[in-house]
Amino acid sequence: MRFDNKIAIVTGGLSGIGAAIAARLAAEGAKVIAADIATDAATLDAAPPIAPLRVDVADPASATELVETTRATHGRVDILVQAAGIGHDVPLLETTPELFDRIIAINLRGTFLVAQAAARAMVAQGGGAIVNIASVSGMRGNVGRTAYGASKGGVVIMSQVMAVELATAGVRVNVIAPGPVDTPLVARMHDAEIRRIWTDAVPMRRYATPEEIAGAAAFLCSEDAGYVTGHVLAVDGGFLGTGVQRR
Ligand code: NAD
Repeated sequence: MRFDNKIAIVTGGLSGIGAAIAARLAAEGAKVIAADIATDAATLDAAPPIAPLRVDVADPASATELVETTRATHGRVDILVQAAGIGHDVPLLETTPELFDRIIAINLRGTFLVAQAAARAMVAQGGGAIVNIASVSGMRGNVGRTAYGASKGGVVIMSQVMAVELATAGVRVNVIAPGPVDTPLVARMHDAEIRRIWTDAVPMRRYATPEEIAGAAAFLCSEDAGYVTGHVLAVDGGFLGTGVQRR
């Protein structure tokens, strides 16, 4: 029970990776706010281990309100995990400015907005842990993902700057870069051909489960990672680590 008495916000907490992280933190004792655009819940119920709350991370007022509502209900924010995000598989020549802006607004600017609001609370209370979910596509480019890759690469660098700026305040900031994970997002985006390409590219020859990302997130949120900050943890079946050409 590493998170007894801890208050955690998980954005994107109602689906896929975020839902698995919310479940894992709650299973280890945290009170979790599952903050997501896919709910009408406008007020926070303090009672259940996982309580939904509506947020649009792309909206500065909504991002601030998420943290303020959490503090008003629970008094503090110990943990923030940011899994809210959207993907796309669109070739460069078909990527419109509107699509580019939308991906950046949610994946990069949204991550900034919620992290900044939570960091203010964490600095004031004397510490906390933030984990931002990027992607292997933010570490090594993937065809069809100009905007997505830019947004996730931005999350990586932004998080490392945050880690340094917040280090003496006791706030740790780390990143998880997942490889392909079986989630509703991937079910929408990966047809059989894309699935074959990804499976072939991953040395472990399979997609991750959301729970495997959640295990890594729980570690980074916990005191087990008390001296870990500014780190990018690839949870990718070996995709980034080897760079070895296979036959
Ligand atoms: P998902 O679609 O299953 O879940 C994403 C959640 O984010 C949804 O519940 C959605 O409602 C929420 N969301 C979207 N826009 C939002 C907004 N503006 N405000 C608040 N919530 C919003 O996707 P997933 O596969 O679980 O992905 C979670 C994160 O992990 C994303 O950032 C994604 O880019 C990243 N990621 C996923 C994979 C993968 O293979 N699934 C790989 C690498 C990185």
